[in-house]
Amino acid sequence: MWEDSNYCWVVLCKNRWFHFRQALLTSHRIPLGETDAVMPLPPLDGRFSVRCDDCGKEYLYKPSDVRRYEQELPASFTPHPLFRLGGERRRTQRSLQVVGLVVRGESVGNGAFREETVAISVSAHGGLIVLSAELALGQTLILKNSRTQNELEGRVVRFGPSHKGRAQVGVELVQPTPDFWPVESRIGRKSSNERKIGTS
Ligand SMILES: [Zn+2]
Repeated sequence: MWEDSNYCWVVLCKNRWFHFRQALLTSHRIPLGETDAVMPLPPLDGRFSVRCDDCGKEYLYKPSDVRRYEQELPASFTPHPLFRLGGERRRTQRSLQVVGLVVRGESVGNGAFREETVAISVSAHGGLIVLSAELALGQTLILKNSRTQNELEGRVVRFGPSHKGRAQVGVELVQPTPDFWPVESRIGRKSSNERKIGTS
């Protein structure tokens, strides 16, 4: 089945010479906090300072320096203060359930399509949807939850790794809608130990 991918926000350490000498890597990624495939960058008010977890040097970074990177963070990881809220939000709201969907839209060069598929790693902001149709970044899709028959608009925001000819497409909901997917609510949520994963 589909692997649940882990994402984090990173910046590239500006102490390039140090990391080049250390590991012959031109860039060292400094993890800032957890995210998911589609969650927007937390609000950042101008430049912010980040201390490198490897060389220990501190530099100023612009919001545009931040990248989304597919990587699991170690359990001991402490998020950057500006990225802490997003991390907590993700942990409480992301669901590992696979959600049945019907997706409609226009494929690149092939006209209208309709595909029965699944979303994985969903949150109130969107999800990763497995699709074989060829799509363009920024285009709009109509998503229908197969169980509830609810329809919503989503926007293609990124392309993940493909699996057996189908791509994992990051789709952001045009309006964040926690009740579109079976995403747990923050109030009255069971502890993570009691949480059922992969059942329906
Ligand atoms: Zn560094």
